[in-house]
Amino acid sequence: MTVTSQKLTDSTAAASFDPYKVRADFPILQTTVSPGGPKLIYLDNGATTQKPRQVIDAISRYYESQNANIHRGVYRLSQVATDLYESARRKVQAFINAADEKECLFVRGTTEGVNLVAGCWGRTKLKAGDEVLVSTMEHHSNIVPWQIACEMTGATLRVIPMNDAGELAMDDYAKMLSERTKFVAVTHLSNAMGTVNDVKTIARLAHKVGAKVLVDGAQWVAHAPTDVRDIDADFYVFSGHKLFGPTGIGVLYGKRELLEAMPPYMGGGDMIESVTFEKSTYAQLPNKFEAGTPDIAGAVGLGAAIDYVTSIGVANYVQHEQDLLHYATEQLSAIPGLRIIGTAKNKGSVVSFVMDGIASLDIGTRLDGEGVAVRTGHHCCMPLMNRLGIPSTTRASFAMYNTREDVDALVAAVQKVRQESN
Ligand code: PLP
Repeated sequence: MTVTSQKLTDSTAAASFDPYKVRADFPILQTTVSPGGPKLIYLDNGATTQKPRQVIDAISRYYESQNANIHRGVYRLSQVATDLYESARRKVQAFINAADEKECLFVRGTTEGVNLVAGCWGRTKLKAGDEVLVSTMEHHSNIVPWQIACEMTGATLRVIPMNDAGELAMDDYAKMLSERTKFVAVTHLSNAMGTVNDVKTIARLAHKVGAKVLVDGAQWVAHAPTDVRDIDADFYVFSGHKLFGPTGIGVLYGKRELLEAMPPYMGGGDMIESVTFEKSTYAQLPNKFEAGTPDIAGAVGLGAAIDYVTSIGVANYVQHEQDLLHYATEQLSAIPGLRIIGTAKNKGSVVSFVMDGIASLDIGTRLDGEGVAVRTGHHCCMPLMNRLGIPSTTRASFAMYNTREDVDALVAAVQKVRQESN
């Protein structure tokens, strides 16, 4: 599987990948949902992933023996913490194939990453008459920051349409592009339907008209190799907690020249070069965008998560997740009255569905009774739900540690819900 093809269907996965071995690293996957209750079947990886022992240990070790504030201390412990934080940045750089570690900024997560770009790039560069394009399937966090930027600058937000399978209408997209288009913000993999977007082509076409491109990689990075240079993304954002790392930490990648030309996001300690009451000057990248004490333990945990997935090899489990996707799609589709939402040809391991006569919330609640954790609702994609003409879906989203037995448990639980509702 290479990012160049942007496909999740290549069969280059190592036959040696063993989800049962991986599962053993995740303490929570060995638990029951309540004392004496059913075993946890965790299928809400799109919302957040579970954490392996290696990540939990790295965070504990940090607080037990390495904790100090970074960048400012001359004492050894502070240097240890600084080295850990900066080495996590280098791990991110290698993981997404950025040219320079200074292009990798630590933020709180995808949401903050998009807000930073919409705030610092959007609000300073956009003007009336300009257009920003987002797609129909964006998460609210890749819509609302752009709406705010457009409201403040007079720019117009336009929406790239999709077909009923949940695939972007690339011909329409190409026609929407013009010299007015200044920014295109799209998701790499839809959290609500699983669609994989051809972000490389999206970027290439946008660049032809001089527009900048942000790719929301929240749902992608844990499931397939990421190469920001191959995509030629101007900005790429993701959250650590969806990559087996902790919450509260994420990454904004930005091309160096763009980040250097942008004003700071927040003012405060660490982001300055000098301060007087008359004028402050700002630090070089990446510090310019990392005001205040950052989430050091979070960065350490994210670094450990990257080490963990790198040691397994993301490309080695792509095929396993595809197998789960196809198996679940086949099994669920056979249930009378169940309809899969999102039938794109190129999909990640996300299965969304609706059932005749049973609300998603009821399905989710009843699946919980069987130990099966899924997400229900609009998945922070209300405009997408409007386009699909449904209020919500039930979503199972798989990670590398899920197995066919997990799918069987999901299907059996959904069948039970169906029977009880008849
Ligand atoms: N973008 C997508 C596609 C997502 O799925 C999510 C979270 O579910 C986000 C953005 C927001 O991520 P976070 O809440 O970690 O900032």
